[in-house]
Amino acid sequence: MTERRDHFIGGQYVPPTSGEYFVSTNPANQEALYEAARGTAEDVDRAVRSAQQAFDNPLWRDLSQTKRGHLLRRLGDLIGENAEELARMETLDNGKLLREMRGQMATLPEYYRYYAGLADKVEGRVIPTSDRRVLNYTMREPLGVVGAITPWNSPLTLTTSKLAPALCVGNTMVIKPSEYTSATVLRLAELVMEAGFPEGVVNAVTGFGPEAGQALVDHPGLAKISFTGSTATGSRIASTTAGRFIGSTLELGGKSPNIVFDDADVANAAMGVVAGIFAAAGQTCIAGSRVFAQRGVYDELLERVSNRAQSIVVGDPLAEDTELGPLAFGDQRDKVAGYVDLGRSEGARVLTGGEATDGGLGGFFYQPTVLVDVTNDMRVVREEIFGPVAAVMPFDTEDEVVALANDTDYGLAAGVWTTGLARAHRMADRLDAGTIWVNTYRAMSPMSPRQGFKSSGVGVEHGQETLNEYTRLKSVWINTSEDPVADPFVMRS
Ligand code: NAD
Repeated sequence: MTERRDHFIGGQYVPPTSGEYFVSTNPANQEALYEAARGTAEDVDRAVRSAQQAFDNPLWRDLSQTKRGHLLRRLGDLIGENAEELARMETLDNGKLLREMRGQMATLPEYYRYYAGLADKVEGRVIPTSDRRVLNYTMREPLGVVGAITPWNSPLTLTTSKLAPALCVGNTMVIKPSEYTSATVLRLAELVMEAGFPEGVVNAVTGFGPEAGQALVDHPGLAKISFTGSTATGSRIASTTAGRFIGSTLELGGKSPNIVFDDADVANAAMGVVAGIFAAAGQTCIAGSRVFAQRGVYDELLERVSNRAQSIVVGDPLAEDTELGPLAFGDQRDKVAGYVDLGRSEGARVLTGGEATDGGLGGFFYQPTVLVDVTNDMRVVREEIFGPVAAVMPFDTEDEVVALANDTDYGLAAGVWTTGLARAHRMADRLDAGTIWVNTYRAMSPMSPRQGFKSSGVGVEHGQETLNEYTRLKSVWINTSEDPVADPFVMRS
């Protein structure tokens, strides 16, 4: 029998009230890994109550900002000490390359250290009003219990983008990880306790989206929802939070353009295109899935990209030389295959790839695929596929590519490959996306804020800016004069 993992509530493992579990499998070979607790509304309620008690507990509420920073730094160190175990867990759960997950775990402590450094720098302001006898100042306060709902593609990194800033400013949290990747978030909750946070500050309830996820979104005890996932789920969450007048940070899907100009270093740009769409088997929100190549370099770029795509080593994500692992689960592989078939029926030509495989392991693999003869109105160009499928299109002028690149519902990221300094800045200004990379792709740092435009989201993650998402602003007016209240029927300033 596979090992069982319970919810983590109030500082300890707690079995699901329903007594039910679900199996998490390795997508590289379909072997069962463990059973996770199937969370229900009752479990979620227990976790939110625990987080509320922790929020009200003087051990947490009255902890100095400096000491909160110490705890965050300690948590970062513990993640660093356990990085190999965490990386392996994620690779087994979602099929991403062990190399990639090791890289993510190596940078994860930096997120906690960054917010540890900011913890004692969250300050209010003294505002000069028109009456100098009045002292007006602002304070930033924690919100309360924050619900975090995360996807499977980078479980701990995407959880950390929410958890580190939320704890930095004194909130507590209930996390609902993806049903495909429950393991590392539970382990993280253990490390939170080991770091010395009071019990209940971080809780994790595992389970399915429409069940545990929906129950969390609907829970009246939440002060905020921070969500990363598909635009469809994000939109549903936004309707609920709007009706309840609570905030939400939503990091959603993308269909990002990766644009190569005639004046680019084409060999380098081709690697940038490969990095944009074939890394993580295309299962990244920032995937550069729409590739635009200027007419003068179109043939050469296509040849370089398709040659590299054909030589990509597909196989066991634990192996050092593997470059492309499986999709995270069977339905995801079928979705990718369905989109490529749809592309064919829309008139696209498959230049490279276009077939599902089992990777020789019995897993859910899909070949790196390049589609040509595509136009901006095809569904394979408009909708997020979330797999290793690039749609490549030629263009002639800068104005034309700006119009094509911006003609999308999404606005998460964009890549530009050029040696023209003026053009680089011009494109950064003209592209309608929250992150612009010039002569690089898929770069990220806890220090650099990012925001999805249009259907790619609401709110900011990372950087100092995200702290505003986890605090509320209070304005305090203190009359320092002894003067009697003047005319009570007019507004004071
Ligand atoms: P998803 O929306 O299906 O699921 C995300 C999470 O939401 C999971 O934990 C799921 O259980 C939960 N969920 C599902 N239905 C729910 C409901 N009704 N109520 C509450 N919770 C619910 O997304 P996914 O397939 O897990 O992830 C892939 C998507 O995430 C892609 O669209 C990708 O672009 C996006 N993503 C965005 C970013 C970003 O930073 N913008 C990063 C990574 C992934």
